[in-house]
This record gives sequence, structure tokens and C-alpha cells, in this order.
Amino acid sequence: MPERDNERVYLDWAATAPLYPEAREAMEPFLVPGLPNLAYGANANSLYGMGRQAFSALESAREALSCCLNANRPDEIIFTSGATEANNAAVWGIVSALRKKAVQAGKQDLIPHIITSAIEHDSVLAPLRSLKSYACEITYVKPDREGFIAPEQFEAALKENTIFASIQMANNEIGAIQSIQALASIAHDKGIIFHTDAVQALGKVAVDLKALGVDAASFSAHKVGGPKGCGLLYLKNKTPFEPFIVGGGQEQGKRSGTQNVCGAAGFSAAAQVASSQQSAEAQRLQLLRDHLYASCSQIEGVMPLVACEAGSNKYLPNVVSLAVKGLESETLILRLDLKGFEVSGGSACSSHSLEPSHVLRALGVSDDIAYGSLRISMGRFTTASDIDRFMQAFESCLRSS
Ligand code: PMP
Repeated sequence: MPERDNERVYLDWAATAPLYPEAREAMEPFLVPGLPNLAYGANANSLYGMGRQAFSALESAREALSCCLNANRPDEIIFTSGATEANNAAVWGIVSALRKKAVQAGKQDLIPHIITSAIEHDSVLAPLRSLKSYACEITYVKPDREGFIAPEQFEAALKENTIFASIQMANNEIGAIQSIQALASIAHDKGIIFHTDAVQALGKVAVDLKALGVDAASFSAHKVGGPKGCGLLYLKNKTPFEPFIVGGGQEQGKRSGTQNVCGAAGFSAAAQVASSQQSAEAQRLQLLRDHLYASCSQIEGVMPLVACEAGSNKYLPNVVSLAVKGLESETLILRLDLKGFEVSGGSACSSHSLEPSHVLRALGVSDDIAYGSLRISMGRFTTASDIDRFMQAFESCLRSS
């Protein structure tokens, strides 16, 4: 465990994880400044020895990630600048390719229909919204009150012209884990391409791409202890895909741009740690989550936003989502910050917005309650004593209102 600041307790791991020491070690050779040390820092596409060395480091990272995720082959891993890009690329790239195929087959009048859920991350919802202005039809499947997409609801949304579906594996605000294997299989029975945003799942639940049977999946390095600004799009061999970022033709022409070899090396090292420790960490974190959930539920005026029963593996083992009646998230976050605790209200990505989260709205949580929402998320370096200290601070913050 790295040295820690005993005063502060970081409980916002769903927003980002601190860099793992293993990732830093893997990245160090790329960060040595100066010309003589360019050995790894060269352009992975250059033909001379240094370039070949960088290329070999990139391909090792690809191979290790492909193994971690149980992909069929390393060339199904496309490095990106993060999961926002991977999600955008999946939506645009797959839908454009399918549309092109339809036109080639003489079906230019086909209006593509796409299925997603109402609780996706904005990096899936925003590109889908843009597709609407390119004459695509979108159905947003609603989750039930506890945040789950019922396979029957998903099936009921299918239409003759459905070509693509994107459903997240685990939700970043409430931690609900979806039945991706079942959903992908329903989609495949109708020849529909299925993508999942698996960012929050990696390292927290088992992610086995072969078993899940998806055609595409997005991942982000910084959520598993790797560096920010690096991610990947898994694209199963032969999945229709029209490149979203074009230029120099890197990543087999599927994502142009000089590759971030250093980031890929850090991502791969962190993902290997996260995957190898996943099962033990899930058990450990689940106990902390259950304790935190039970303690918070006993406080008057505090209510969990989803009914996550003790031992439940329907939700991520590291997330507790609750609301405080009569207090705004911002007030609570700042009070806790002053006491040395970092947490977030709903999702950090949209926390600068004053709008209640679209996820909580989709669950039917009233705006009044949603304004007081708080997400506490844990990770590799969170201890039982952190949670005990948090509970004391939390109760004291509530008392000072
Ligand atoms: N999807 C989910 C579910 C996320 O939680 C996030 C990060 N907030 C993203 C996508 C975007 O990832 P990145 O930060 O790598 O762009």
C-alpha cells in the first residue's frame, strides 16, 4: 500500500482511482526525460530500433489487456483516449458501418433503430442524441425502481429496424449491475450488434468478454488505478465499424493518432492487478459496503437510494448511494471536504450541473430527494477504519445543519 495522508480519506473511487504503484512502475521507463533515454518514448510507428521497442511495449500492453478481459485476440483491443472516446467511437463507428451496409444492400430508406437505457453515462447518451438528428430512432429502456433493465423490457423494445443496442454493465451512480449476457443474447437472436460500457465493472465484478458475448465494450484506465487519458474499445473480430477518428491509420486504421504507449503500459499493469485481485477485493469491499449501508440507513433523514441488501451481488461491491432529506449534495460534499473526506453527489462528471441526475430521475426518485444525493465509493486502499471515521464525520455534518 502506498504511503497515505492519515488526515484525509478518499471515498470517490467511482470518479477516479488513485494511480496504482504498479502502474507508475510500468510507466516510469517512458517518463525519463532527454534524448538518450528515448528508448521507450519513441513513436511506436517508427521503423528504427527505438520505435520498434515502443511498438513492442504497446503490443505487450494490448496482449495483457486482451488476456485480462478474456478477449478472443489482442487485435480486438483498440486503444483510445479514455472511455468517453470509446463510447463515442462505438456508437458512431458501429451505427455508421451498419448504415453503410444497409445502403449497399439497397435499403437506403431504412431508418436505423437503436436501443439504450435511460441510465447510461452521458458519453453514450450524448452521441446517441446527435444520431437522432441523422434520422435514427432511439428507444430508452427504463430501469425498474432498483435500477435494473429487465431482459423482457429490452426484448419488448426490439423492432424490425433495430440494428444496435448499448447497455452499461454497471451504473456509476447507483452501482446496479445489468444482466449483460442475457441482453446480448436477446440482441444476437435478432442479429443486433450489442455494446456495453463496462467502465465501472472492471476490477469490481468478473469481466469475461467471451462469456458476456458482447460485440463491443468500453473501458477506462483511470477507474482501475491506471493513468487518466487512456482507455480502450473492445471490438470483436468482424464487428462492423467505420473509423470514428481518421488520419494516420494507427490501431489497424480504427483509431488514428500516435499511440499513448506510456498510458497503455500503465493501464495494462493496473488492469492486471485489478483483475487478479477482483474476487478477493469484491468480498472485502462488499463487507465495508454492507457496514456503511447499514450504518447510514439507521440515521434519521438519511435514505439509501436503492435497496442494496447485505451480501447482494446485484450492485457493485464498492458503491453506496444515498440521499439526505432537506440538505443539498453540494453542502454535504463541502462540509465533508472540510473534515477531510472526499465523496461525490451523484456522478462527478456532471456534478457541476444543478440539475438532478438523469439516473435518479429515471428511477423515479423525486427531485427534492435527488438534490440531496451522495455517492460514497471505495477501492483498493479503503480500510474499515476509513469507513468508521467517515461515519463519525458524516453524523457530525448532519448534526451541524
Ligand atoms: N462510462 C462510465 C460508466 C463512467 O463512469 C465514466 C467516467 N465517469 C465514463 C464512461 C467516461 O470515462 P473517461 O473518464 O475515461 O472518459
